[in-house]
Parts: sequence; C-alpha cells; structure tokens
Amino acid sequence: MQLSDAEIREILIRRKKAKIRKQKRRRRRMLIALLLIIVLIFAFIKLKGSKGKGTAEDEKAADKAAAAQNRGVIFIDPGHGGMDSGSDDDKDRYEKDDTLKLGLAVRDKLQALGFKVAMSRTEDELVDRTERGKMANKAGAVFFVSIHRNKADGGGHGVEGFIPKGDDKESRLLGENIMHFLGRAGFTERTIRAGTLVDPNDDYEEIAATDMPSVLIEVGFLSNEDDNYRFDAHMDQNASAIANAINYTFMQLHEPEAAAEYEEFLTQLDNTCEKVINATGEALSGLQDSLSGAEEGSGEGIDPQA
Ligand SMILES: [Zn+2]
Repeated sequence: MQLSDAEIREILIRRKKAKIRKQKRRRRRMLIALLLIIVLIFAFIKLKGSKGKGTAEDEKAADKAAAAQNRGVIFIDPGHGGMDSGSDDDKDRYEKDDTLKLGLAVRDKLQALGFKVAMSRTEDELVDRTERGKMANKAGAVFFVSIHRNKADGGGHGVEGFIPKGDDKESRLLGENIMHFLGRAGFTERTIRAGTLVDPNDDYEEIAATDMPSVLIEVGFLSNEDDNYRFDAHMDQNASAIANAINYTFMQLHEPEAAAEYEEFLTQLDNTCEKVINATGEALSGLQDSLSGAEEGSGEGIDPQA
C-alpha cells in the first residue's frame, strides 16, 4: 500500500500527539504523587508537632480541669538567676535566661490546665538554691520541678533529669514523664537518675529538702546548637510538653480514670502517626516507580544501541 506524503504526515502528527498526551499523563501522575507526598509530609509534621504542642491535649485536660477546680499547687523553679547565671554557650547565652523564659511559659500552660503555680522567681534575681525547696514546702506544692540546661565540653545533647537520692517512685514517675514528653517534642531522651551527676548518695540543693515528688530537669544542652534551636524555636511546644507531663503525672497519682483516658488518646495519636509514616513511604515508592517509568519513556524513539 502506498501512502501519500499527506497521509504519512498525518500519521506522524497523530503519533506525535499521542506521545505528547502520554507524556502529559505521566507528568500529571507524577505531579499528583508529588502533591500527595507533600501533603502527607505536611500532615505528619503537623501531627508530630501537635503531640508535644498538645492543643488537643490541652483542651481535653482543660475540660477536666474545669471539672476539678482544686488540683493543687505546682512549684516551678527556673534554675539560677541574678549573679548566678548558670551555664553559658561561650557567647552571650546564659542558662538563667533560658530557664526563666521556659519556666514562665510552663506556668501559663499549667494555669490553663487548672493548676495553681508558685515560682521561686519570675525575674532575673538571685535566689538561694536550698531556699527554693523550702519555698515549695511552704506553698504546699504537689510537685517540684526545677528547670535547668546542661553543658558538656565533650559534646552531648538531649534531656536528662535528677531526682532525690532516695529514688522515690513518684519523683521518678514525674521525671520520666517530663523526659518522655520532651522526647515527643523532639529532644533526645537521656536518663533520669537519683542523686547528682557525680554522687548517687548526694542531692542537688534544690531538691534536697522538698516534701513532694521533685525533679531537676535539664532541657537540652547549651553547648549543642541543635538543642538550642529546638529550645528557642519550639518554646511553646516545650512548655506544653512539660506542663502536659506534670498534668499526666498528677492524673496517674490522683485521677486514675482521667489518666486511662489520656493514655488511650496518646496511643491513638501514635497509631495515626504510624499510618501517616507508612502512607508516605508508599507514596514515595509510587513516585519512584513513575519516575523510572518516565525515564524509560524518554528513551522512546532513540536507538538503545546508540
Ligand atoms: Zn543549672
């Protein structure tokens, strides 16, 4: 069969159009896959943030708080202050400022959760370390939380805490909850130990004489840039993490029903997170497939031997 030039041209044009359509379809598929991945990643980040930020948690707990008017006093102790500036980052950053900022933010969160809050200081002033524990005793606080930041010359990052040398169960529960919740907010979890860094049979002055479950928590290392970034950029989230951990500990010890409900909520959140991670993985491999398909496609019409 002989084809005229016009017919051949038409066939070529039709083939070209079909090829363009095919390329368009492929591009559209890739775009959809890409969009899906972006949406999933975004959803995941938002979800992960909300775990520590706890808008939903706050609301839920706030409802409970409204029901239970008198949940007691929490004592928050922003470490150091005044001429005792604590650790520094070898520049202009001082521990006493970080602890005050976070301490005040934690106070606000706790008040929103229905607690009364007493503090060792609300400004940059020197307060005797032993006196802080006595202030908490006088205030009849149910928990004592001293906020500090760590420093290590040889490196190190993450959250760790110290409880009184007797290693009482409730102090450990409080300390571990705070560390876990800060872990959920993105910090590396180190350890909670009884005693001081150098001596398990000694106590830090703040928690040496407190009558209630007590912990001295080191919220990341001043000597670590990532920890400092996390500390600053996620201030609200970190404050919520500490307040929610205190709230959860209070529930575990005094409101078991609420604690059980809260645990269920946290489990659901974890499951949702896992689902998002899996879906993102699937979408990524889908994109990979369609990309490799596109590569094969781009070779069309080219002699593979060339
Ligand atoms: Zn300190």
